[in-house]
Amino acid sequence: SVRLDDIRRAYGQTSVLRGVSLSISDGEFLTLLGPSGCGKSTLLRILAGLEVQDAGSVAIGGQAVDGLRPKRRDVAMVFQSYALYPHMTVAATMALPLRMRRLSALQRVPLLGRLLPGTAGTIDAIDAEVARTAKSLGIGHLLARKPGQLSGGQRQRVAVGRAMVRHPAVFLMDEPLSNLDAKLRVQMRTEIKELHKRLGTTFVYVTHDQAEAMTLSDRVAVMLDGELLQVAPPQQIYADPDDRRVAEFIGSPK
Ligand code: ATP
Ligand code: MG
Repeated sequence: SVRLDDIRRAYGQTSVLRGVSLSISDGEFLTLLGPSGCGKSTLLRILAGLEVQDAGSVAIGGQAVDGLRPKRRDVAMVFQSYALYPHMTVAATMALPLRMRRLSALQRVPLLGRLLPGTAGTIDAIDAEVARTAKSLGIGHLLARKPGQLSGGQRQRVAVGRAMVRHPAVFLMDEPLSNLDAKLRVQMRTEIKELHKRLGTTFVYVTHDQAEAMTLSDRVAVMLDGELLQVAPPQQIYADPDDRRVAEFIGSPK
C-alpha cells in the first residue's frame, strides 16, 4: 500500500505540488493522469525518494519512508527515458540491482563476506533470475546485446526487467510507453496489464494518455496544476466528472 499525505513541493516561487493526498491499496493499479507540467513526475520521484518534498509524508506498506534513500524503499521505478547504460549488456543491466544489493550486504559484514564460500553460487542465482525474468518479458534471446542494438520496445522491456528483478512491493512507471510508436504502444499496454495481473503488485503509473489510463487502471487520479481533482475508477471519471476541469480534460460532456 502507498499513502501520500498532503505532499507539497515548490521550485523557487512556483508551487508544483499543492497538497496531494492519496491512498493506494495493495495490488491496485493507480494511474496519475494529467497534462504536461502538472507535477506527475515530481510526485513519482518523491515517492521513489529521488526528490524530497517540502512538506507532507509518504508511507509505503504502512511504514513512513520520509528520509529513506531510494534503495531503502520497497519500490522500483521505470523511467520515461528508460535510463539504460549504453555500454552495458541486457544481462548486466538487469543484474545490476541484484549485484548492488549483494555488494551492500557484503559491506555490512565485510569479514564474513570474504570468508564465506559460495560467491559463485550467488552469481549463478543472479544470472538465473535475470534469465528467467528476461524470458518472461520476451527478451531472453537478447541478453548479450547493448541498448544501441535494441528496438524501442525491447529497451522498454529491459527497463521493466531491471525493475522486476528487485521484486518491489510497488512499481512506479513514468510514461514508460511514450517513446514508442502507436502500434507498439497499444501492444505494450496489454503486456503491462498482464504483468500487473501476473505479479499482483501495486502499480503507480504516470501518463498523459487517456486511453492508456482508462484501459490499464483500477483507479485514475486526475491531476492538474499540482492538485488531484478526482480519484475514481475510469468509467466514473468519464460518466461523472467531479468538476468542469476534469470534464474538459477528459472530454466528457459536463
Ligand atoms: P510531463 O508530462 O511533461 O512529464 P509532469 O506532469 O511530469 O510533466 P513535472 O516534471 O512533475 O511535470 O514538472 C512539474 C512542474 O515543475 C513543471 O512546470 C516543471 O517545469 C517544473 N519543474 C520540474 N522540475 C523542476 C526543477 N528541477 N526546477 C524548476 N522547476 C521544475
Ligand atoms: Mg513527467
